[in-house]
Amino acid sequence: MKTIGIIGGMSWESSAQYYAIINRAVRDRLGSPHSARILLHSLDFAPIAQLQADGEWEELGEAMADSARSLEAGGADCLLIATNTMHKLADDVEEASDLPLLHIADSAADAACAEGLTKMALLGTAFTMEQDFYRERLEEHHGLDVIIPEAGDRAEVHRIIYEELIAGEVLDASRETYREIIARLVDQGAQGVILGCTEIMLLISQSDSPVPVFDTTELHALAAVDFALS
Ligand code: GLU
Repeated sequence: MKTIGIIGGMSWESSAQYYAIINRAVRDRLGSPHSARILLHSLDFAPIAQLQADGEWEELGEAMADSARSLEAGGADCLLIATNTMHKLADDVEEASDLPLLHIADSAADAACAEGLTKMALLGTAFTMEQDFYRERLEEHHGLDVIIPEAGDRAEVHRIIYEELIAGEVLDASRETYREIIARLVDQGAQGVILGCTEIMLLISQSDSPVPVFDTTELHALAAVDFALS
């Protein structure tokens, strides 16, 4: 079995989900008491979130590259950045290490394409929804048509992630807000919804959406298991 290297802690609430999903999948596929070989480099999210808010992406790129080098030195066979947002710095990670980077957007896009869907709603942080790095990957590498919520809805999706989900708060009122936003995106033609932030799965599941949801946390974690057992 290969060793999965995870750049995590962004936030630890979702890194804990990766840890559980990966280990459960390895147990299901190999039988108990098998578990995954994982190296988790878990960062303090407070300075990361501050640097994001300040737009200090160069410094963040250095932090991601340092983490990638630590995991490679520790014996990882592949790398995962366990957050959609920090894939803005995927190039820094790839340049810092010779290990393959399993890109989170590819996991989601492959699953959507396998179901024959072409027009996808994207929910995530403002960085993920509004900047090019993530949407371009979906559009140019996978041929998907991506739609995002309108500005007020985007602000609310972003706020709920940073103020609540990352703090471990899962509120019914916020679930209702997300459900309404998803319904508006479906009215605009979305055939599926990419949960493009690794904490959204704490709040939203398939029962909250009339169209298929694609949870990047689970899909990314399972891609790592496929790699580890290949
Ligand atoms: N985990 C989140 C994501 O998937 C947000 C936290 C971060 O900014 O890294 O985008």
